[in-house]
Amino acid sequence: MKILVINCGSSSLKFQLLDMNDESVLAKGIVERIGSEGTSITCETPKNGKIRNCESAGNHTDAASLVFKYLSDEKTRVIKNANEIDAIGHRLVHGGEVYNSSVLIDDKVVEALKKYSVFAPLHNPANILGIEACKNLLPDVPMAGTFDTAFHQTMPDYAFMYALPYSIYEKHKIRKYGFHGTSHRYVSGIAAKELNKNNPKIISCHLGNGSSICAVCNGKSVDTSMGYTPVDGLVMGTRCGDLDPAIVNFIEKEEQMSHKEVDDMLNKKSGVYGISGISNDFRDLENALHDGNKRAKLALEIFDFRLRKYIGAYTAIMGGLDALVFTAGIGENDWETRYFACKDLEYLGIEIDENRNKTIRGNFADISLPGSKVRIYVIPTNEELMIARDTKEIVSALK
Ligand code: AMP
Repeated sequence: MKILVINCGSSSLKFQLLDMNDESVLAKGIVERIGSEGTSITCETPKNGKIRNCESAGNHTDAASLVFKYLSDEKTRVIKNANEIDAIGHRLVHGGEVYNSSVLIDDKVVEALKKYSVFAPLHNPANILGIEACKNLLPDVPMAGTFDTAFHQTMPDYAFMYALPYSIYEKHKIRKYGFHGTSHRYVSGIAAKELNKNNPKIISCHLGNGSSICAVCNGKSVDTSMGYTPVDGLVMGTRCGDLDPAIVNFIEKEEQMSHKEVDDMLNKKSGVYGISGISNDFRDLENALHDGNKRAKLALEIFDFRLRKYIGAYTAIMGGLDALVFTAGIGENDWETRYFACKDLEYLGIEIDENRNKTIRGNFADISLPGSKVRIYVIPTNEELMIARDTKEIVSALK
């Protein structure tokens, strides 16, 4: 079974074609700058490597037909034509309180995406564009969707509620939803298999440009750091994470900024970038730190401090810990962040193998000392594979 996984942004369309017989990746890539001048497609196949070409795509349907063209053209030849695609799996962002697992996409799901666009105004409308593009081009191919929020729907009410008047929740459904759910589900699933014990308690740290941490008890998300929006929780590349809400009013008044300007600041100009004034990229920050830059040092210290605080808090709420998992760009590649996250946590049973940790970049590894009570894993995330597996299961049940 060949499954195409689609992840649509407002002006981009990422794709990955998988052969689900052996879960191999046949091709992957991205169409960028859809609808503006300078649209390009990058397509990578195991046989031909990466190619990048300028093309034109006025909308997402054009972008999807470019993808089909590249997958079936003479050079790549991963498929003969688009009819070889058995199913399409979409990465969807916000499923509100309704969707707690992946679903077969029908009109009801599209309506729900529209309804929850109020919670994810940039992402959900882009997801709908992706669905419609595929429907226009391959109307008979079944499609499934995997929501970023779904995995966190198991959080108990005392974890997802904010202490606001209850009517705010009833009227507007303002609550913690959490994000990165597919990634947390994937890596915590692998960690659970490795542990091979009953009721495993796992903390999953998805540390990338956007970062979140999740407490997973017996396969279920019981708390996560992102909240009503993905700006909450850990310090991120350009997002502030946890913040006293009174600060927003103060800045609006004193800096004479509009709501939109403050929102932009919290999302795009804060985090380690805002503190350091240098970059949102940890490689740049670590270079600057080693050159003696004090604000780069401070930015990284604030990041590590908050991460450690959450590790402690999540160990407490689960009543212990069996495995700590690092994933995504920083978690998979940056040994310094992993080291500072684990340092001096021996009293929690977390003992990192410092030498081994330094050698691990982008591959699965157990980086805990042999006697460590808590296993520490580096696990490369693979949201596309998770979406393809869910799609396969849903579509196979139709037959
Ligand atoms: P992601 O959003 O998961 O793609 O992660 C992107 C982020 O990972 C970048 O902004 C960097 O901060 C970080 N990153 C990627 N590679 C490395 C590396 N080799 N060392 C340190 N940080 C890295």
